[in-house]
Amino acid sequence: MSEQENILKLKEMVEVSDNIVFFGGAGVSTESGIPDFRSETGIYNTVHKYGCSPEQILSHTFFMRKPEIFYDFYKSTMVYTDAEPNEAHKALAKLEKLGKLKAVVTQNIDGLHQKAGSEKVYELHGTIMKNYCMKCGQFYDLSYVMNSEGVPRCEKCGGMVKPDVVLYEEGLDDTTISKSVRAIAEADVLIIGGTSLNVYPAAGFINYYHGNKLVLINKSETPYDRQANLLIHDSIGKVLKTCAADL
Ligand SMILES: [Zn+2]
Repeated sequence: MSEQENILKLKEMVEVSDNIVFFGGAGVSTESGIPDFRSETGIYNTVHKYGCSPEQILSHTFFMRKPEIFYDFYKSTMVYTDAEPNEAHKALAKLEKLGKLKAVVTQNIDGLHQKAGSEKVYELHGTIMKNYCMKCGQFYDLSYVMNSEGVPRCEKCGGMVKPDVVLYEEGLDDTTISKSVRAIAEADVLIIGGTSLNVYPAAGFINYYHGNKLVLINKSETPYDRQANLLIHDSIGKVLKTCAADL
C-alpha cells in the first residue's frame, strides 16, 4: 500500500473509534523545533562544552552535586520557551474534544500537548512546567526557573528548586505509569508516533495493548515495525492533521 492509502486507512480507524490512545516520543516535539537531545549533535556539543554527556548531567547525582552546571545545561538545551504546538499536538487535542481520544501518553517534558488544549496527558518523564522546592515543596512555574540567575532558590525557605522532570537514576511516577498502562490496555486504537521505541520504558508499554489496531507513525524504521497493524513512515504532524480534518 502507498503511504497515502495508509493515511486514509488510519483516518477511517479514527472516524469509527471513540477509544484511541496516543503514545508519543521526541519526534512529536521536533516538528515544533525542539531537538531530540539524544541526537548526535546534541551529545557532541554537550561533551565539548562541559566535558560530559547529557545523560551524566541529567542524572540525579549530578543535579545534587553540581546544580550550577545542571541548570546551565538545562536552561540552554532542555527548555524552549518559544516553542508552539504543531499540527500533531493540535490534531490530538481536537480528537480528545470530540470524545475520540482517551489519553496522550508522552515521553516529552515540554508541556506542548496541554498548550494545544489536551487535558488527559500522562507525562512519563515529567514536565518542565512544574517545579518544586526540595525543602518545603513550594510550587514554581517555568518562568520563575528561567528568570532566576543560576540555580533557582525557594523564595520562602531558600531551598533548591528542582524541575518535576524525571532524571536518570530516578524512578518514574507510579500513578502516571498505572494510568498510562490502563489507558493502553483498554484502548481500541493505539497510535504510536515519533519514537524509535528504543528508549525505556516505551517498548514495554506496547505489550499492554491487546487490540488489533496498532498504528506506528515514524519517519525511520523501528524494531516494532513488524508488530504494527498499520505502519506509516511519514511526518507525524502531516498524518494526524489529515486524520483529524473534517471531523
Ligand atoms: Zn522552600
